[in-house]
Amino acid sequence: MKWLLGIDIGGTTVKMAILDLQGIIVEKWEIETIILNDGAQIPHDIATSFLKKIEESNKKLEDFVGAGIGAPGFIDFNSGVVEQAVNIGWKNFELVGEFERLTGLPAVIENDANAAAIGEMWKGAGDGATELLAVTLGTGVGGGIITNGHIVHGTVGMAGEIGHITMLTEGGVLCGCGRTGCLETIASATGVARLGLEKRKNRDTVLNDIKAVTAKDVFDAYAQGDTVATEVVEEVTHYLGLALSNLANSLNPEIIVIGGGVSKAGEVLLAPLRKQFERFALPRVFGSTTIKVAELSNDAGVIGCGWLAKKMFLK
Ligand SMILES: [Zn+2]
Repeated sequence: MKWLLGIDIGGTTVKMAILDLQGIIVEKWEIETIILNDGAQIPHDIATSFLKKIEESNKKLEDFVGAGIGAPGFIDFNSGVVEQAVNIGWKNFELVGEFERLTGLPAVIENDANAAAIGEMWKGAGDGATELLAVTLGTGVGGGIITNGHIVHGTVGMAGEIGHITMLTEGGVLCGCGRTGCLETIASATGVARLGLEKRKNRDTVLNDIKAVTAKDVFDAYAQGDTVATEVVEEVTHYLGLALSNLANSLNPEIIVIGGGVSKAGEVLLAPLRKQFERFALPRVFGSTTIKVAELSNDAGVIGCGWLAKKMFLK
């Protein structure tokens, strides 16, 4: 039996999974991301945890085809170096080299949002589609573009930064990237909550009964017909639908997968989003695109990493 190792490094936890060659997770676990000393010990923590796990489960290192590592930040895919990951503290960090030295297992690296997109393509909502656009609406807005079954990296690895498409050329809110009016400031969980807080002022809305309004509160209130929440959802789906239709007019994906916390609203989000998408997409593009909610939740990253390891190292 041959195995794949998937590693999804986040700011608070590292998710790890052992998968079979069909992408079925046979074991998964997570460890804390220790960011002391600019994250210097993270490869050691991952290697130690992995080697202990295979010993416990009576698996042999030589039965592992390789590892896929999903990491946040800017990555040099060829050298396996993380050029910068602000949340973790890495700067020009030789992640792949360090991991390979510590485990003896070959590894391939990918941006975490791209890895999640690949996971959805392989085992989730993508359902094997090879033309796929994945958007994650979480604290920020992430994205992954897959065409012909391959992730698009672009010339310096910046492809798929969907969250930083400029939606408002004037009067937009400041984004984490330093510019204003990005999609992320509107369609992330943070953006939805912010719009809820702004629009509820001096209005008759259930949102005024809640102290710290979240994106979920807004969608719940919208589902109950609340006027203010309806305004927020209309604005959010307008800009998200505009961004997605422009992307779809350029890329013509078969499936658009929406993931992240905001996607938990399900059809409550997708129904108004499809209307806006239809409004801005070319008819043939609209007719050939399915918009779906992500299916793998927190497992998307490790599954995508398993796929990368299989593709890269299976002889
Ligand atoms: Zn931005």
